[in-house]
Amino acid sequence: MGDIIFMGPPGSGKGTQAQKLVRENGWVQLSTGDLFRSHIEAATELGKRVKPILDAGTYVPDDITVEMVRQRLRDIPKETRIVFDGFPRTIDQAKAIDRLLSEVGRGLDGVIYLDVPRNELIARVITRGKREGRSDDTARVIVKRLDVYEQNTRPLIDHYKQRGMLREVDGTGTVEEIATRLGKAAEATWSR
Ligand code: ADP
Repeated sequence: MGDIIFMGPPGSGKGTQAQKLVRENGWVQLSTGDLFRSHIEAATELGKRVKPILDAGTYVPDDITVEMVRQRLRDIPKETRIVFDGFPRTIDQAKAIDRLLSEVGRGLDGVIYLDVPRNELIARVITRGKREGRSDDTARVIVKRLDVYEQNTRPLIDHYKQRGMLREVDGTGTVEEIATRLGKAAEATWSR
């Protein structure tokens, strides 16, 4: 069993669903957004450097992101399946993940894309911002994040489709409904 990538625009529920799947299956979630936020909270050098980038809703440079993922990968046992959440987000990161995984004797099983319409994404993110106080979950920043996503991350859908690795999942409905669809898609990646 190899690793899987969860892809989807901001607000698509990648994080929520990844957390649920890892809890229920003993897998590990690797969320670059969470890793950056931990650095910001702990006020590390990296955290100070990336805070303005997250607040603006743009992407952290690939070299910084890839290095952080490389470090994190060191601590994950080989037998544990990883669910990547929010990485890769650019074509260069997609190339890097293959390299990073093969360095530690791992490989990808597949990519799951959570599809949610834009108006619902905006509404969800604004609700989350009010609930959790995430500084990039505001009406202004979400529009920027969606633009950055369309430009840099949307091309990854084709990248993985061409490789026969992509499974699309309807990301609307209740958390449970989406989880059921996702669980099936994740299982189907094993038998590829
Ligand atoms: P969301 O998917 O809702 O945007 P994340 O927590 O995944 O939330 O990401 C929050 C922010 O962290 C992004 O807007 C970006 O600034 C930064 N970030 C996360 N992952 C990456 C990545 N792979 N490459 C560059 N920047 C990233």
